[in-house]
Parts: sequence; structure tokens; C-alpha cells
Amino acid sequence: MLVNGAVITGKGAAKSRTAEEVEQIRAILRGRFDDANSEYEEALAENHKLRLVEIGDAAGDDQADSGSKTAERDAATSLLRTLLDRRTQAEHAMQRLDDGTYGNCEGCHNPIPVERLEVFPSATTCVNCKQVRERRAG
Ligand SMILES: [Zn+2]
Repeated sequence: MLVNGAVITGKGAAKSRTAEEVEQIRAILRGRFDDANSEYEEALAENHKLRLVEIGDAAGDDQADSGSKTAERDAATSLLRTLLDRRTQAEHAMQRLDDGTYGNCEGCHNPIPVERLEVFPSATTCVNCKQVRERRAG
């Protein structure tokens, strides 16, 4: 009974949002997910086209041409990865919203500053933990 009471009265940092606020955040995250998703689909189609052209052209390539194509392909690949990351992150943030852990850092479990969430609604770590992770990732 006490546990339920705590949920209803909003005790604990992660549970202090109203249902309305949660819905607002969900709508923002859903929007980010959809944006990233459609951009990803577009980039994927574009990438596919690029490759088809490449296969068609490959026979007549000189060295400089294939070099610029490699650069183009690298850029396209890293764009795809970025968009996929954004999509995954938005999805992940929505899951955390369902779990009631949204807004708390996954690293140190402290609340993520609201200013950070306003700029990056799908952030799941505070700035410190994000930097630690990035340093670790190389
Ligand atoms: Zn943290």
C-alpha cells in the first residue's frame, strides 16, 4: 500500500512528473524518433541509389574518381550511423519514460538537469557521464 501511495503522490525524483508532462515528453520523443526514422529511410534509399550508380560506373573509373566515391560513401555511412543512433536513443528514452526512469542519469542515477533535457530530450545520461562514456569509447 505504501509503495502505491508513493507512486500516486509522486514521491521520488523520477515519479514527480504529472501524467500530462509525461505525455508531452512522449510526444517530443515520438517526434524525434519519427524524424530520425524518416531521415534514416531517406538516407538509406539515397545510399542504395549511390551504390547502384557506382556499380554501373565502376568499369570506367580512374583513380581520382574512385577516391572521391570512397569519401562520399564514408560520409553516407557515417550519416546513416548518426541517424540510427538518434532513432535508437529516442526509442530508448521512450522506454525509460515507460519505466519511470526517464530524466535520471543511466550512469550516476542523479537527475539530469532540466536544461539539458530541454535541449536534448532523448538524453539518458548527464553531461559528466556522457563525457566519461565517450572517452571510454575512444
Ligand atoms: Zn551521470
